Amino acid sequence: MCMFRLWYTIGIIFAAGLILTLKDRRRSFCVDYCPMATVQQAVYRQKDPGHDRLLALLQRRWFKVLVAIGFWGYLIAVLILFRGDPQLLWSSLLSLMLGSMAIALILQSLVRKRVWCSTICPYGKVLEQVVTIGRRSVSGD
Ligand code: SF4
Repeated sequence: MCMFRLWYTIGIIFAAGLILTLKDRRRSFCVDYCPMATVQQAVYRQKDPGHDRLLALLQRRWFKVLVAIGFWGYLIAVLILFRGDPQLLWSSLLSLMLGSMAIALILQSLVRKRVWCSTICPYGKVLEQVVTIGRRSVSGD
Protein backbone atom coordinates (compact mmCIF):
# COMPACT_ATOMS: atom_id res chain seq x y z
CA MET A 1 0.00 0.00 0.00
CA CYS A 2 1.23 3.50 -0.82
CA MET A 3 2.49 5.23 2.35
CA PHE A 4 0.59 8.38 1.45
CA ARG A 5 -2.70 6.50 1.65
CA LEU A 6 -2.20 6.01 5.37
CA TRP A 7 -3.76 8.57 7.74
CA TYR A 8 -0.89 8.34 10.22
CA THR A 9 1.87 9.07 7.69
CA ILE A 10 1.74 12.77 8.64
CA GLY A 11 2.35 11.72 12.25
CA ILE A 12 5.40 9.70 11.15
CA ILE A 13 6.76 12.74 9.29
CA PHE A 14 6.24 15.02 12.32
CA ALA A 15 7.70 12.38 14.65
CA ALA A 16 10.80 12.08 12.44
CA GLY A 17 11.39 15.83 12.86
CA LEU A 18 10.97 15.51 16.63
CA ILE A 19 13.37 12.57 16.89
CA LEU A 20 15.96 14.39 14.77
CA THR A 21 15.62 17.45 17.00
CA LEU A 22 15.94 15.37 20.17
CA LYS A 23 18.97 13.56 18.81
CA ASP A 24 20.82 16.70 17.67
CA ARG A 25 19.54 19.01 20.47
CA ARG A 26 18.99 21.70 17.87
CA ARG A 27 16.33 22.39 15.26
CA SER A 28 17.97 20.23 12.59
CA PHE A 29 14.67 19.68 10.81
CA CYS A 30 14.24 23.44 10.39
CA VAL A 31 17.83 23.99 9.31
CA ASP A 32 18.30 21.06 6.96
CA TYR A 33 15.00 19.53 5.87
CA CYS A 34 11.91 21.73 6.11
CA PRO A 35 10.60 22.50 2.60
CA MET A 36 9.00 25.72 3.84
CA ALA A 37 12.39 26.97 4.99
CA THR A 38 13.90 26.14 1.60
CA VAL A 39 11.18 28.02 -0.29
CA GLN A 40 11.43 31.07 2.00
CA GLN A 41 15.22 31.12 1.54
CA ALA A 42 14.85 30.77 -2.23
CA VAL A 43 12.50 33.71 -2.71
CA TYR A 44 14.12 36.05 -0.16
CA ARG A 45 15.35 39.24 -1.86
CA GLN A 46 17.55 40.73 0.88
CA LYS A 47 15.20 43.56 1.63
CA ASP A 48 13.29 43.68 4.90
CA PRO A 49 10.39 46.16 4.83
CA GLY A 50 10.15 45.60 8.58
CA HIS A 51 6.54 46.49 9.33
CA ASP A 52 7.05 46.95 13.06
CA ARG A 53 3.37 46.88 14.01
CA LEU A 54 2.81 43.62 12.17
CA LEU A 55 5.92 42.14 13.79
CA ALA A 56 4.66 43.24 17.20
CA LEU A 57 1.36 41.46 16.49
CA LEU A 58 3.14 38.25 15.41
CA GLN A 59 5.18 38.31 18.62
CA ARG A 60 2.14 38.60 20.87
CA ARG A 61 1.58 35.47 22.93
CA TRP A 62 -2.16 35.39 22.37
CA PHE A 63 -1.61 35.59 18.61
CA LYS A 64 0.82 32.65 18.64
CA VAL A 65 -1.65 30.63 20.70
CA LEU A 66 -4.44 31.47 18.26
CA VAL A 67 -2.34 30.35 15.27
CA ALA A 68 -1.34 27.15 17.08
CA ILE A 69 -4.97 26.32 17.94
CA GLY A 70 -6.02 26.95 14.34
CA PHE A 71 -3.18 24.86 12.89
CA TRP A 72 -3.32 21.87 15.23
CA GLY A 73 -7.10 22.00 15.46
CA TYR A 74 -7.45 21.85 11.69
CA LEU A 75 -4.88 19.05 11.46
CA ILE A 76 -6.57 16.92 14.12
CA ALA A 77 -10.03 17.55 12.67
CA VAL A 78 -8.85 16.49 9.19
CA LEU A 79 -7.22 13.33 10.57
CA ILE A 80 -10.38 12.38 12.44
CA LEU A 81 -12.89 13.31 9.77
CA PHE A 82 -11.09 12.06 6.65
CA ARG A 83 -9.02 9.14 7.90
CA GLY A 84 -11.07 6.77 5.75
CA ASP A 85 -10.69 8.85 2.60
CA PRO A 86 -6.99 9.24 1.65
CA GLN A 87 -7.70 11.57 -1.26
CA LEU A 88 -9.69 14.02 0.85
CA LEU A 89 -7.25 13.63 3.73
CA TRP A 90 -4.14 14.46 1.72
CA SER A 91 -5.77 17.23 -0.29
CA SER A 92 -6.81 18.85 3.02
CA LEU A 93 -3.31 18.42 4.47
CA LEU A 94 -1.83 19.85 1.28
CA SER A 95 -4.18 22.84 1.60
CA LEU A 96 -2.89 23.39 5.14
CA MET A 97 0.73 23.23 3.98
CA LEU A 98 0.19 25.46 0.95
CA GLY A 99 -1.88 27.91 3.00
CA SER A 100 0.88 28.07 5.63
CA MET A 101 3.48 28.51 2.91
CA ALA A 102 1.51 31.37 1.32
CA ILE A 103 1.16 33.12 4.70
CA ALA A 104 4.88 32.60 5.43
CA LEU A 105 5.87 34.15 2.08
CA ILE A 106 3.49 37.10 2.48
CA LEU A 107 4.79 37.77 6.00
CA GLN A 108 8.37 37.53 4.80
CA SER A 109 7.66 40.07 2.06
CA LEU A 110 6.03 42.41 4.61
CA VAL A 111 8.20 42.04 7.70
CA ARG A 112 11.55 40.27 7.49
CA LYS A 113 13.34 37.12 6.44
CA ARG A 114 11.64 33.93 7.68
CA VAL A 115 9.52 35.78 10.20
CA TRP A 116 7.01 32.88 10.08
CA CYS A 117 9.75 30.57 11.38
CA SER A 118 11.00 32.93 14.07
CA THR A 119 7.59 33.89 15.46
CA ILE A 120 4.52 31.73 14.82
CA CYS A 121 5.24 28.42 13.05
CA PRO A 122 3.25 25.93 15.17
CA TYR A 123 5.49 22.96 14.38
CA GLY A 124 8.62 25.09 14.85
CA LYS A 125 7.35 26.07 18.31
CA VAL A 126 7.02 22.39 19.24
CA LEU A 127 10.57 21.73 18.03
CA GLU A 128 11.78 24.76 20.02
CA GLN A 129 10.25 23.31 23.18
CA VAL A 130 11.87 19.94 22.48
CA VAL A 131 15.28 21.61 22.16
CA THR A 132 14.76 23.54 25.41
CA ILE A 133 13.66 20.42 27.31
CA GLY A 134 16.56 18.40 25.84
CA ARG A 135 19.12 21.02 26.86
CA ARG A 136 17.63 21.32 30.35
CA SER A 137 17.76 17.57 30.85
CA VAL A 138 21.42 17.50 29.80
CA SER A 139 22.38 20.42 32.04
CA GLY A 140 20.32 18.92 34.89
CA ASP A 141 18.25 22.07 35.59
S1 SF4 B 1 9.96 26.98 11.91
FE1 SF4 B 1 8.39 25.81 10.82
S2 SF4 B 1 8.42 26.49 8.70
FE2 SF4 B 1 10.27 27.22 9.70
S3 SF4 B 1 11.78 25.71 9.20
FE3 SF4 B 1 10.92 25.12 11.17
S4 SF4 B 1 9.23 23.75 10.75
FE4 SF4 B 1 9.80 24.77 8.84
